[in-house]
Amino acid sequence: MRQPLTFFLNGSALKVSTPTLAPKLERWAQASGVDAHFTSPTLKQLPKAVKDAVDAGRLPIAVGGDGTAHQLAQCLPDGASFAPLPLGSGNDFATALGWSSNLTRALEQLNTAQSMPLDCLQASQSNAPVFKTLSVAGWGFAADVNREANASTVPGSLQYPVGVLQALAKGGTRPVRLTIDDKTVIEDRFWTVLACNTSMAGGGMKFAPDADPQDGMMEVLALGDVSTLGLIGLLGRVYFGRHLGHRQVKLWRCRSLVIEPLEEEPGTWSPLLAEGDSYAGAASTRFEVKPAGLSVLVPTPAHR
Ligand SMILES: [Mg+2]
Repeated sequence: MRQPLTFFLNGSALKVSTPTLAPKLERWAQASGVDAHFTSPTLKQLPKAVKDAVDAGRLPIAVGGDGTAHQLAQCLPDGASFAPLPLGSGNDFATALGWSSNLTRALEQLNTAQSMPLDCLQASQSNAPVFKTLSVAGWGFAADVNREANASTVPGSLQYPVGVLQALAKGGTRPVRLTIDDKTVIEDRFWTVLACNTSMAGGGMKFAPDADPQDGMMEVLALGDVSTLGLIGLLGRVYFGRHLGHRQVKLWRCRSLVIEPLEEEPGTWSPLLAEGDSYAGAASTRFEVKPAGLSVLVPTPAHR
C-alpha cells in the first residue's frame, strides 16, 4: 500500500471506538510505512472531507459497517476509489468482496488490496438521482424492519429482532407494480422487493447467492404471498441461500427496475432501504445498473 490513506472512522459503528481504534491504526501505518490520516466527520461534514482527501491524492477508507461504506460512497467523486474496513454491526458489502471482519487480518489484506471496478445501482425518483446502492436496496418489509430497528431505543443486539416484530405488526404483503428492463410489467402483492448488486444484506442473509457485482446486471428478488409464519421460515432459509426454489420467491436478472407502490397515498409511500440507510419512498423509484460505477479496493485472491 503506497498511496496515502485517510481513515474515516464512524464513531457510531459497532466496533469503532475512535480513542482506542485510531492508535491501533496509527501503529499499523507506522509499521507498514503508510502515510495515514484519521478523521471522524459528521454526516454533514462528510462530503467536503471526502472531496478534500481525494483532491489531495489520498484514498478514503470507510471504517465501520455497511452504512459507513454507503455514506462515504455517496460522496465520492466519479472515478475515485475507496476501501471498506468492516467494523460495523452489518458488514455485508465488505464481506461479499472478501474483506475479513478481524481488524488485524483486514489490515494485512489492505497491504496488498487492489482497486477493482464494480457495478452499483443508481436509485432515482422523478428523474433525479437519490442514492447509489453498493449491495442491496429494499422495499416493503425489509425496509420497514430497517426503519423500525434504526428508530428503536432497545440495546443494539435487540434492535433487529424488535424491528422484525414491529414490522410484522404492520401487516403482510402489499400491492406493487414492478417494471423490469422497461418492458416486463408485474402487478402483484409482495412482502418485500430487493434490488441486489451483491449477494448479501441484513447481516449475512444471502438474498441473491449468485449476484455478481461485475456482470452489469442486477438480481431482483421478490417474496410473495406467504403467511407470517411462512415468511419467518423463508427468511431462515435465506441465511443458507436455500430460498430460491420456493414457489413464492421470484427472481429476475435485469438492468433496470421500477417500483411503483399501488394503493398507497401520496406522502405515505413505503420507505426504501440501502445498506442499512432509510430513504423516503415515492410514487415511482427507478433502479438502474451503473456498470463499473464504483471503484473499490478488494483483497487479492491469495489474501481472502
Ligand atoms: Mg450483477
